[in-house]
Amino acid sequence: AEAAGGGDKEAVRAYFNSTGFERWRKIYGSATEGVNRVQLDIREGHAQTVAAALAMLRDSPLELAGATVCDAGCGTGSLAIPLAAAGADVLASDISAAMVSEAQRQAAAQSSSSSFRMPRFEVRDLESLEGRYDVVVCLDVLIHYPREEARAMIRHLASLADKRLLISFAPRTLYFDFLKRVGELFPGPSKATRAYLHAEADIEDALRQAGWRVANRGFISTQFYFAKLFDAVPVGSST
Ligand code: SAM
Repeated sequence: AEAAGGGDKEAVRAYFNSTGFERWRKIYGSATEGVNRVQLDIREGHAQTVAAALAMLRDSPLELAGATVCDAGCGTGSLAIPLAAAGADVLASDISAAMVSEAQRQAAAQSSSSSFRMPRFEVRDLESLEGRYDVVVCLDVLIHYPREEARAMIRHLASLADKRLLISFAPRTLYFDFLKRVGELFPGPSKATRAYLHAEADIEDALRQAGWRVANRGFISTQFYFAKLFDAVPVGSST
């Protein structure tokens, strides 16, 4: 087997530097002009995932101010920026240079608030992340990873995290398979538009292999957006 990310990786990078960038920047943005109903619905679902992840971290015993956080596949910074505003020390990285510079631009626009700690932004893929962080977050990225690569990536992300690992992924359900086939979620002929759904049990099993367990779980669904959110901790830790 190829390394995590597999043969699709270059296509994914190209997609998120071009049409994918334009599409997702629009979905993750706040403007409504030129945004269709499906995109607005996905925006709403994704915003709920971000809010749920923030709530899980706020409810955890961890003190966010000063905590080190690695946002793996940060996109336009939807989670990295509020974490930075809460005083976390954030490394925000993404395989797409276009995404990273958009995240940087949005962070600069926020940086006037007093507790804001400017994240460190890096263009790099998940595979090359290293170091140790109190928290690792990886939202809506595993959709680009086939089953075995996703499992390997979870083990890798777990090896970077000390206290918490938050992962969201599109669950394997018939309805989601249908939407994917219809092409609403990933239109276009590009290979990068391939989406991989994951069975909850697979993700949990990979976490278990890494010595982690799911402490909290969420399920976010709107009409066109579905995500499972896992908040995991090392086995043996109390919360
Ligand atoms: N995590 C962000 C969020 O929830 O707002 C962005 C989610 S977006 C659907 C997926 C992101 O994963 C894109 O920004 C894409 O460039 C990034 N990505 C895909 N494959 C990656 C890889 N192998 N390494 C790093 N980033 C990757």
